[in-house]
Amino acid sequence: MRVLVTGGAGFIGSAVCRRLARMPDCVLLNLDKLTYAANLDSLAGLGESDGYRFVQGDICDRSLLATVFAEFRPDAVIHLAAESHVDRSIMSSGVFVQTNIVGTHALLEAALTHWETLAGDSKGAFRFLHVSTDEVFGSLGETGWFNEKTAYDPRSPYSASKAAADHLVSAWGHTYGLPVMISNCSNNYGPFQFPEKLIPTVILNAREGRLVEVYGDGGNVRDWLHVDDHVDALLRILRGGEPGQTYAVGGGAERTNLAVVEEICDLLDEMASVERPHRNLVQFVADRPGHDRRYAIDASRIKSALGWAPKHTFEQGLRETVRWYLDHEVWWRPLREKRHGGGRLGLERVG
Ligand code: NAD
Repeated sequence: MRVLVTGGAGFIGSAVCRRLARMPDCVLLNLDKLTYAANLDSLAGLGESDGYRFVQGDICDRSLLATVFAEFRPDAVIHLAAESHVDRSIMSSGVFVQTNIVGTHALLEAALTHWETLAGDSKGAFRFLHVSTDEVFGSLGETGWFNEKTAYDPRSPYSASKAAADHLVSAWGHTYGLPVMISNCSNNYGPFQFPEKLIPTVILNAREGRLVEVYGDGGNVRDWLHVDDHVDALLRILRGGEPGQTYAVGGGAERTNLAVVEEICDLLDEMASVERPHRNLVQFVADRPGHDRRYAIDASRIKSALGWAPKHTFEQGLRETVRWYLDHEVWWRPLREKRHGGGRLGLERVG
């Protein structure tokens, strides 16, 4: 199978590439613009001998896309390239509209042009998988779960841009017959996540004895999904998913942000030597504007239709993740020094 992965130098995309590169029947091309969130060190060790190729480029660049599709002739596209951080979308929404909406449109057009040149089995087997988020569904109250039938109600510039992309993807399926699928997953965690997202930021700030900022009252709930379980889900959707369907993917591990922060602090008490107890570093700060209160996923469809289930418990996955960050300073240190130092983002709009 020839797979075009967009955004393969990011957190989830690099986990997808590392997994696909180990599969002997797979040839993959990673198309990534290399924004601040990318890190080619996450792909260290992948070479052309693994059936892996990298192209630096923007999914908004239509002529580059035409060349990539014509030369690589993929059997499938896994589309992960995006601006992905809600706080940054509050500060500067333009690039979210550009990459997540305009870029997805450009990619759909290029995929459709390519798909129309295929015939027979290759045309029937082609798949376009858009990796989206549960944030498109808005916010839950104390009870209930999101599933594939939940109405869209995006509330941040990030989630609105992903929702728009989802609508474009399903429209290209309905209108032109492109065999599209969408996954809407919950918050991912695990190794190689850029240190601006909650879990790596808390680990690295607390490790240095810096204050650990918790937005609002810390009671916002997320349903945590280990990135490797997410990759399993994406590959199952790619192989066995039905064109036109969407799949909700969640780890079944709901936690308040405060509970996650406290679990990390307790793990650091055990694993890191300096500050104890790390919970003393917790400081409540002004809430994120428009902060969704609760996300939770009912993943019954992907479980029953495709036999997927998460393999990681949150406790074990978080323990391994904290250990990974403590052991991989060489990976995150340059990012902290040159790209984002761990401070707060997203309190005001800067245009
Ligand atoms: P990330 O920010 O770590 O990586 C995004 C990658 O996309 C980067 O390598 C970046 O260079 C690349 N990229 C950005 N703009 C591009 C452009 N114009 N052209 C080509 N490449 C570009 O993101 P992630 O956390 O790995 O998320 C991957 C996908 O999964 C995103 O679509 C995101 O919306 C979705 N998602 C993420 C989560 C999560 O918890 N991380 C949850 C649900 C859905």
